[in-house]
Amino acid sequence: MGRVIVADDSLLVRRMFQRLLGEAGHEVIAVGDGLEAVESAFAGEVDLIILDVLMPRMNGYVACRLLKSEPSTRAVPVLMLSGQADIGDRYWGLETGADHYVTKDAPPERLLDLVNELVSGPRHPRPPAPPAEHSQTDILGRVSELLDRKLFEATILSELGQVAGSLERVGEAFTSVMEVVARAVDYSVGSLAFADGDDLEIMVMARRPLAMPVVDAFEAQVAASATRERGAGPPLRAVMRRFSSTAGSEPESPTAEPLDGFESFSVTRGGSLNGLLALAGPSVAQTANEHRAFLGRVASQALIVTENARLFHRVRDLSLRDGLTGLYNHRHSMELVNEEFERASRYGTPLSLLMIDLDHFKSFNDENGHLAGDAALKAVGRLLSDAIRTVDHVGRHGGEEFLVILSHTDHESARRTAERLRSLVEGHPFGPGSAPRRITASIGVATHPGSDARSPMELLREADRALYRAKEAGRNRVG
Ligand code: GH3
Ligand code: MG
Ligand code: MG
Repeated sequence: MGRVIVADDSLLVRRMFQRLLGEAGHEVIAVGDGLEAVESAFAGEVDLIILDVLMPRMNGYVACRLLKSEPSTRAVPVLMLSGQADIGDRYWGLETGADHYVTKDAPPERLLDLVNELVSGPRHPRPPAPPAEHSQTDILGRVSELLDRKLFEATILSELGQVAGSLERVGEAFTSVMEVVARAVDYSVGSLAFADGDDLEIMVMARRPLAMPVVDAFEAQVAASATRERGAGPPLRAVMRRFSSTAGSEPESPTAEPLDGFESFSVTRGGSLNGLLALAGPSVAQTANEHRAFLGRVASQALIVTENARLFHRVRDLSLRDGLTGLYNHRHSMELVNEEFERASRYGTPLSLLMIDLDHFKSFNDENGHLAGDAALKAVGRLLSDAIRTVDHVGRHGGEEFLVILSHTDHESARRTAERLRSLVEGHPFGPGSAPRRITASIGVATHPGSDARSPMELLREADRALYRAKEAGRNRVG
């Protein structure tokens, strides 16, 4: 029989242990948090310490590390308890020196067996306890000292570093990074945001099922924090959002409650805001208070790793794009036509191509100069890409020719889109100078199925023929 300290913030759990262990003949000292557990352990002989993970004031991990670093308590077995079978919890339970790890929902007989086994283990002579004046403030002082220790930080930071090796996909890099962060902080929704001028790219990770308005509210908080951290300048505008979730398979219905606890850790580079890590959830504030400096380093590492992936992606993307207009280049447009043609054939959905050629563009160049011609091509590119759906593609097919790929679009809708684009170009004032020039475009439409085309190339030729007919019929029209 032994003296057992049980630390858990739930009265129910304390009572359960008191009864279970009391009936088996153990003496139970029940306390409500890690700090009291450490105080009791320092105060007298004890055979086993049972620690809950999440507790107010001092959590189980911190208490465990403290007990394991103190000569007088080092040999006392520690059993970590957790509510959920979370691998992050298990990892940290063992990483902080706990001897055993068990989830709260384990059957009572198993808990009792484990306690009996640990209590009857080999006894070690107990070195003198620390002086009695070890007050709570002293203990808390030791805690922050411990938190600086290599293990706790280096493990997380090195794991973040390892993610850097597998970075091809931004989404994957982000997900892996946020999974590592979850080992350090139990958050419900987290985000990495990258500041770029007045723009903010926000990536969000939900670890619990959350209703979209909750995610939107979180994003607004992220943008507000980033704006505040940047100091001078207009509010940062969220330009791109990427949403990931690890909560997909859970049957729980999404939470629509506002999130409690929001903390952000900003990262600056060369004096200006680079981005931030933001986390929200019930236990975020407590962890943030205990580990603020460390989480600052986690934020910086997480941002670097994910940013590397973003840059990689951007460089790859550059090779697909045309230097002048930023649209997909000829080669990539052809790849997209091939892919879309195959998809359309496989699923029996319609695919339409618009071949767009600017009218008398040679004269525009002659009259306004080549630079103005370049600017006009850029402007047309922007008009076109702003006017189509995100699932559609637009490429620069050649000089003053553009190709628009409309998936899931039949001939009639494609003609309507073509007409809309034609009229957009016609209505747009092109530079240079104060007397804007007009440019018109002719457009050829081809749809598969519905034409004789049996290959992507034949479909392109069909669009070309339709374009030729539009030119023949007088230009500035859809053929
Ligand atoms: P059409 O109505 O028959 O299409 O007449 P067009 O003058 O547009 O046709 P043509 O094919 O004879 O001439 C295309 C012109 O587009 C030639 C060239 O001056 C211009 N062009 C092609 N690529 C570029 C470019 O990158 N920059 C500029 N500024 N002009 C270009
Ligand atoms: Mg041409
Ligand atoms: Mg032309």
